[in-house]
Amino acid sequence: MGSWKTKLRAADLPSDSKLEAVCRSCGHVRYLTRSYLVDERHAGHLYIDQIERRSRCRVLGCKGRMRLAMMHKSQTSGFVGGMA
Ligand SMILES: [Zn+2]
Repeated sequence: MGSWKTKLRAADLPSDSKLEAVCRSCGHVRYLTRSYLVDERHAGHLYIDQIERRSRCRVLGCKGRMRLAMMHKSQTSGFVGGMA
């Protein structure tokens, strides 16, 4: 664990990149774009690791911790969705 998340800041992400955030408690999935993190959350200076630790599930009453993963273009096109 760790690896790229501790080395990469939100501002370092490619402009069209997306992070997939999966709730560790309920499995809810959100997608965080670079522009959302940098422009709306003003988190460009934060490492992905730090963003992950600050992220909480938005499902009412859950507030579980999120696990962030990089979305790659090849995965996006072939993504069928694992959890309903
Ligand atoms: Zn949740």
